Amino acid sequence: MVKENLMTFNRAKKYLVGGVNSPVRSFSYVGGQPLLIKKGKGARIYDYDSKRYIDYVLSWGSLILGHAHPAVMGALKKRIDQGLSFGATNALEIELAAAILEAIPAMDKIRFVNSGTEAVMAALRLARGYTKRDRIIKFEHSYHGHADYLLAASGSGLATLSIARSRGVPEEFIKNTLVAPYGDSEYLIRTFRKYGSKVAAVIFEPVGGNYGVIPPDISFLRFLRSVTSKYGALLVADEVITGFRSRFGSLSEEFGITPDLITLGKIIGGGLPVGACAGKEKVMRYLAPLGKVYQASTFAGNPIVMQAGVSTLLTLKKLQKKYPNLRDLTVELTGFIREQAGEYAVPLEVNSYGSMFSLKFKSREGFKKFYKGMLDAGVFLAPSEYESNFLSFAHTGKDIEETKKAVKSALSRVRER
Ligand SMILES: *Cc1c(COP(=O)(O)O)cnc(C)c1O
Repeated sequence: MVKENLMTFNRAKKYLVGGVNSPVRSFSYVGGQPLLIKKGKGARIYDYDSKRYIDYVLSWGSLILGHAHPAVMGALKKRIDQGLSFGATNALEIELAAAILEAIPAMDKIRFVNSGTEAVMAALRLARGYTKRDRIIKFEHSYHGHADYLLAASGSGLATLSIARSRGVPEEFIKNTLVAPYGDSEYLIRTFRKYGSKVAAVIFEPVGGNYGVIPPDISFLRFLRSVTSKYGALLVADEVITGFRSRFGSLSEEFGITPDLITLGKIIGGGLPVGACAGKEKVMRYLAPLGKVYQASTFAGNPIVMQAGVSTLLTLKKLQKKYPNLRDLTVELTGFIREQAGEYAVPLEVNSYGSMFSLKFKSREGFKKFYKGMLDAGVFLAPSEYESNFLSFAHTGKDIEETKKAVKSALSRVRER
């Protein structure tokens, strides 16, 4: 009876481009048939042949409570009978806004959208409208969603698929995007000296999550704050991954940096499509309807999404003292992987921060073999060395033990060749 997966994938290929709705879901990097998932519970997911996997993708870092958390599911079931969308304000939007802004005290106002991409688009348009400048600076290998002008030197799926710059993006659209090397303050100083009066914003990920995990250079991030202030540009922290990931709030705050705008997504929607742009009052009031920077959406602040977000954040808040446990579990797993890579003499770079980790093999072949080994042993990792893996509060010591066994058998496969 192990045929459902294959049948489902064949049908998917008939109607969906490459059988997927997002390129990162394809197994282009590792080869073979991508996973098709029927359901999930806690740290586990199940494919159409009922094979079980321990999940370290977690909807690309969205599900910090794991799959189908009872508090979230219960609240959604109760809420759903009251209707799905109104195109008018619902109290749940206020509740989620309050929950987020209380956790990120440096920000005064928030605008909800439907994805991280939209959140970044709103933030950068706002930065441009506020400063009356056009240029933005992003860093090499960072990923800020799929808006045209941000698809230059990007991480995530573009890095995986070796797409330096997406086709279909006119040169014109990208000419105001300056790409800087991360951590190079000299480079930035030169850039600001040259274009300072034209730069609307610098956007950064507090911890890089889209070119593997890139640990933060905190003094560089502090420098970003001072150089942007000096030149009158805004600092935008893209916390679509890091918001609520390693602490209950923003990571910028932990680093002692107060950006002008913070973009959020993933975790704050509890598994439903969401994005948000939070900011200081003086900037946010430039946004329509108060200001002249236009931004709109049919589904923004959707009550079902907001409910999932509210229930997720309420549950997370109760768990907030346990963030260190989540980190410890990650340290235990990544430490083991490092140690075993040594044992099996497999050159492997393991990067991690909080509950995020990534693995970089010496060759793509090595990663492919390891990846297939893990999959066979029932562990789902991100199917690219450029994507991050995540732990959730649903992951237990037992899951880690099982994952360790998988690691040993997968590494032994990399070895024999
Ligand atoms: C995922 C991600 C985005 C884009 O969010 P979508 O919901 O996929 O549009 C933007 N920035 C960062 C840092 C992300 O990780």
